[in-house]
Amino acid sequence: MSARIIDGKRIAEEVRAEIKEQAAAFFARTGIRPRIVFLLVGENPASMVYVRNKGKSSEEAGFSHETLTFPTTITESELLDVIAKLNADKATHALLCQLPLPKHINEDRILEAIAPEKDIDGFHPMNVGRLLIGRGEYFAPCTPAGIMVMLEREKINASGKHVVVVGRSNIVGKPIAALLAQKAPNANAVVTLAHTGAGKRLTEFTRSADILIAAMGVPHAITADMVSPGAIVIDVGMNSIPDATKKSGSRLTGDVDFDAVKEVASAITPVPGGVGPMTIAMVLRNTLTAAERQVRS
Ligand code: NAP
Repeated sequence: MSARIIDGKRIAEEVRAEIKEQAAAFFARTGIRPRIVFLLVGENPASMVYVRNKGKSSEEAGFSHETLTFPTTITESELLDVIAKLNADKATHALLCQLPLPKHINEDRILEAIAPEKDIDGFHPMNVGRLLIGRGEYFAPCTPAGIMVMLEREKINASGKHVVVVGRSNIVGKPIAALLAQKAPNANAVVTLAHTGAGKRLTEFTRSADILIAAMGVPHAITADMVSPGAIVIDVGMNSIPDATKKSGSRLTGDVDFDAVKEVASAITPVPGGVGPMTIAMVLRNTLTAAERQVRS
């Protein structure tokens, strides 16, 4: 039997409509629109598309937003100055510096300069630390946060389940593992964090998953034989592969061999239209939360 396809696009649209209503209520109460500023350095085409989409979504949610663009020649100290000014600006609630940055700029230094309460990407060590501790106010990175909301809306309770995450990046793998392992409703999972160190044993690990999360950046790396019958499969991968039938000459595909795995799994996210749209919805949710926290304090 073919797996249920989890419609991330529909869930994200629902979440975005709710955020729009909440932002309108926030404005009615305070006279303030949540404001996000995007920092874009250089002309990386993918980064430009991401920032444009996030700006458009912010607009639709009724937020105030601005994209500050800089040439690749900007120095690290100039960029730090921009961040310091925005940190001090009470009207700006959220600050997102699009990665990657040019090689002469130290990304860690930039991410650590963003005030934790405005760091809606959740990359500042303060946010990472609080997420790991599982207490206090913090922002979880948008893709893992989106997966959590997706599971909740799909009524997939991870509690007591064995979740295998493949990929240990700071953006996806590690934070989703930490979120799912928290002693909290809809989390409370038994989590295995796999990576290239698994070597030939990777299949042994993935086959023991009730919920398998692939965040590897390798097209179609997860094949049907790696998935236990009835497992839930979340595909985070967003890989561009050549496709002569497309005008652009390429198409987007996931880390999972979707056509084969959907015949084994009980539920699966597609690419595109799965985790991707949830990530943008969480940029909005975190921005609204940032505004609410800053106006309250
Ligand atoms: P990353 O930083 O490149 O990390 C990839 C991870 O996968 C690494 O930990 C790596 O292990 C592991 N890995 C790679 N090949 C493996 C293999 N054969 N066996 C076991 N582990 C393997 O990637 P990322 O930033 O987390 O992104 C992962 C994917 O998600 C990419 O396709 C990216 O485009 C996509 N993504 C999507 C969204 C979204 O909104 N949908 C957001 C962010 C990222 P090692 O650590 O041992 O090298």
